[in-house]
Amino acid sequence: MAEINVSAESRDLTMVERIGVHSHIRGLGLNSSLEPRAVSEGMVGQTKARKAAGIILQMIKEGKIAGRAVLIAGQAGTGKTAIAIGMAKSLGLETPFTMVAGSELFSLEISKTEALKQAFRKAIGVRIKEEVDIIEGEVVDVQIDRPEVSGAASKTGKLTLKTTEMERVYDMGVKMTGSLRKEKVRRGDVIAIDKDIRMITKLGRSFTSARDYDAMGPQTKFVQCPDGELQKRKEVVRCVTLHEIDVINSSMRGFLALFTGDTGQVPSEVRESVDEKVIEWRDGGKADVVPGVLFIDDVHMLDIECFSFLDCVLENEMAPILVIATDRGITTVRGTDYESPHGIPVELLDRLLIITTQPYTEDEISKIIEIRCQEEDVEVSEEAKLLLTKMGADISLRYSISLITPAALACQKRKGTIVEVRDVHRVYTLFLDVKRSTQFLMECESQYMF
Ligand code: ATP
Repeated sequence: MAEINVSAESRDLTMVERIGVHSHIRGLGLNSSLEPRAVSEGMVGQTKARKAAGIILQMIKEGKIAGRAVLIAGQAGTGKTAIAIGMAKSLGLETPFTMVAGSELFSLEISKTEALKQAFRKAIGVRIKEEVDIIEGEVVDVQIDRPEVSGAASKTGKLTLKTTEMERVYDMGVKMTGSLRKEKVRRGDVIAIDKDIRMITKLGRSFTSARDYDAMGPQTKFVQCPDGELQKRKEVVRCVTLHEIDVINSSMRGFLALFTGDTGQVPSEVRESVDEKVIEWRDGGKADVVPGVLFIDDVHMLDIECFSFLDCVLENEMAPILVIATDRGITTVRGTDYESPHGIPVELLDRLLIITTQPYTEDEISKIIEIRCQEEDVEVSEEAKLLLTKMGADISLRYSISLITPAALACQKRKGTIVEVRDVHRVYTLFLDVKRSTQFLMECESQYMF
């Protein structure tokens, strides 16, 4: 097995949370008795569905969901994805969440079942616990004497570490991780040094678990230790997904393949040996397996082979929580000639806990628009908000939300500070919604190729 070396910097990169369409969702917005608050954690309305999702969360936490999955059924734009994300966020910061659209599974590069396997393994986290000897303390001074460059990501040099109670000078060719270059080590930082004083790591959110770090606090008092020996051992936690471990161990380009996304087909022997190793780590107390959430949107796009695969993997002891969604009614199961509710075979339907979402009222749409404007940091006049709400109700919530940033740009262009009705109107005429786009295509049919 290749050594897992997910550097703090690379994890930071993957954890950058952009303002995406769902970035305002921070949980399910339930109180301690699992009752939904009207507006909370970015969630508005859809109370029945959120309450049901909360009960499922409880089942997950009590380990009572094995072998089952969740289906969220409802019209487009009624918050199916938002609820799945809310579930994942409620399970904790470290819970992996992977989202795929049914159609994405059909690619030319890898088979559909391989794509499904990869999606499953992206949704299973492995929290690797490692024991390191550490000095805890307030760093009062760090000097690095003209470090020699010994590799792209590391430098060697002399590190002077003064703590509040003593001074130590390490000048033994200390290897510093990317996060411990001179400019990044500041007063008050807490650092960890392994027992051979070869690897120094800054303890931060990217390296320890956030909970670990918070409990320790950046100003932890220095622990006096005898010369040459470090006294304290601390558990350091790294979180990776099973898919990341697979890729590091299978691709010629190893870790780099994770950045390009070009991971190719992972040989089944690699997966088997990764599973064996992870189970060994888990049983030996060296790692925890963290089942995350795999969300498959437009599940009616899957065919009968994919559904059989899902049926099998749900039994796996490490399986993530599978949440699927669709806006279809009774429709043909792809790859067969029979119809079934939601285009899902009855055998799988039998194992599903089904949640339904309802269309929003204008008042709820208005609240969602308001939350999105805050999230995108856009100031909107009351009239423009009313117009966006009306569009949300008459056209679609997604369309209306997607106009917020373009309208802010239109406003900026005319040197305004508050988005007005004219800005919304301007972008409405520039960007078509599905209905107008269809109408346009019908009118100009002859000019398009078939
Ligand atoms: P589709 O069927 O098209 O995939 P969907 O049912 O998954 O749609 P979402 O994508 O979740 O709907 O919702 C559309 C937009 O509205 C997203 O930006 C989503 O975050 C937001 N949204 C939906 N429901 C809520 C809600 N109850 N509270 C807050 N925001 C919501």
